[in-house]
Amino acid sequence: MLTRYHELLGDMSDNPFAQQLQAGFSLLRFQPRLEKLYRQYLAAAAVRQRRIAILLALTIWGMFVLSDFWRLRTLLVMEVWPSELYWIFYGRWLVFAGLAACVPVLLVTRLEYLSLQLTPLIILLGAWSIVVINLWYGELGFRYSLSGLILMVIAVFFPLGMTFQKSLLMALLLVVGSMAIGLLMAGSDFLPAFQLNSFYLLLAVLVCACGRYLHDYTQREQFLNRHLLNFLAERDSLTGLHNRRSLEFMVREWLQQAQSNHVLVGFCLFDIDHFKAYNDSCGHEAGDQVLKLVAQALSDGTRRPQDLAARLGGEEFAVAVYDTSADELLAQAEQLRARVEGLALQHPGLPGRQVVTMSVGVALSARDDNFTRLYQRTDEVLYAAKHAGRNRVVSAAEGR
Ligand code: GH3
Ligand code: MG
Ligand code: MG
Repeated sequence: MLTRYHELLGDMSDNPFAQQLQAGFSLLRFQPRLEKLYRQYLAAAAVRQRRIAILLALTIWGMFVLSDFWRLRTLLVMEVWPSELYWIFYGRWLVFAGLAACVPVLLVTRLEYLSLQLTPLIILLGAWSIVVINLWYGELGFRYSLSGLILMVIAVFFPLGMTFQKSLLMALLLVVGSMAIGLLMAGSDFLPAFQLNSFYLLLAVLVCACGRYLHDYTQREQFLNRHLLNFLAERDSLTGLHNRRSLEFMVREWLQQAQSNHVLVGFCLFDIDHFKAYNDSCGHEAGDQVLKLVAQALSDGTRRPQDLAARLGGEEFAVAVYDTSADELLAQAEQLRARVEGLALQHPGLPGRQVVTMSVGVALSARDDNFTRLYQRTDEVLYAAKHAGRNRVVSAAEGR
C-alpha cells in the first residue's frame, strides 16, 4: 500500500506537495514557498489555540494568586510586613496583568501578531517569577516547590503558533534562566534542591520536545496529504489538466465575480478531429500520448492566472478566460488551435499526409449567464465548427 503511494508520488514529481512528501521534512521545514503557505495555515489555527491557552493560563495563575492569600494569611497579623511579601504579590500580579492584557489583544484581529510576540515573553516572565516567588517563600520559612516550572515547560510546547525550534529554544532559555536566577538569589544553598529540580525540568523538556516533534511532523504530513488530495480531486489523471468538476466550479465562481466587476468570461470548447480513426489506426496508447501532447499545448498557451485549461473527458478540452473581449477570445482560441496543428502529429487514420487537428467553439458570457447556458452555447458552435469542415474556430458571436 505504502509502496503504491510512493509510486503515485513519483508520478506526480512536478507537484510541490508530492515533491516535499518524497524529499521528507525531518527538520520540520518545507521548501520556502510551501513553508509560507503552511505558516499561514498554522497562524489561523494558532489564534484559537492561543485563546484557549490564555484562558487556561489565567485560571491557573489566578489559583496561584489565591494560594498566596491562603498561605500568607498567617502573616496578616504581623504589624510590619517583610519586603519579600510585597514582592511576592507584585510578581504574581504582574504576570496576571500580562495574561489579562492578552485577552483583549486576542479579541482584536489586527493585534493577533502582537499576541504572538507577547506569548513567549509572558511564559518566560511567568517561569522566572515562579523561581523568585518560591525562593522568597523559602526565606519566609514556608515550604516551597518549583514544580510549577514544569507547567511552564508544557506551556512552551503547547501549540501556540511558535515553531518547534523556537519552542525548544524558549524551553532551554527558561531552564537556564531559572537556574541563573536561583543561583543569583540563593547562592550555593540553593544548589542541591535546584540540581534535582533542573534534572526533572530537563527531562520535561525532552519529553515535551519529543511529543511536540511527533505532533508537528504528523501535522505537516497531513497538511501535504490534504493539499495533494485536493489537487488530485481537481485534476485529470491522464493529462494533469483541471478536470470537468474543477472547471465547472471555477467558471461558476468567475461568472459571479464577472457580474460584479462588469467584465466578461470567455469559454472555448476543443474537440480533436477524427480521434476515433486515430485510435483505430495507431492504438489506444498512442491515442493517450496525443491527448497528453494536446493537453500540454493547451496548458502552455494558457499560462496567465485568469486562464484555465481543462480536459472534460475523452478527446474534449475546454479553456475558460476571465475578463476578455470577443476579439481577444477569438484570437486566443485561434492561437491554441494553430498551436495543436503546429505540433504536426501525423494522423495515419486519415487519407493523405494529414495531422491531428481540433475544432473549436467559443462563446462569451452574457448578463445573468450561468455555466449550463454558457456551455450549451459553446457546444452548439463547436458542433457548427465540426459541420463546417473541422480544424477551425467558430464563435457564438458570429451567429448573432
Ligand atoms: P469528430 O471529428 O467528429 O470529433 O470525430 P471523433 O472520432 O473525434 O469523435 P468520436 O466521438 O466519434 O470518437 C471519440 C473517440 O475518442 C472515441 C474513443 O476511442 C476516443 N477516446 C475517448 N477517450 C479516450 C482516452 O482516454 N484515450 C484514448 N486513447 N482515446 C479516447
Ligand atoms: Mg468528441
Ligand atoms: Mg472528436
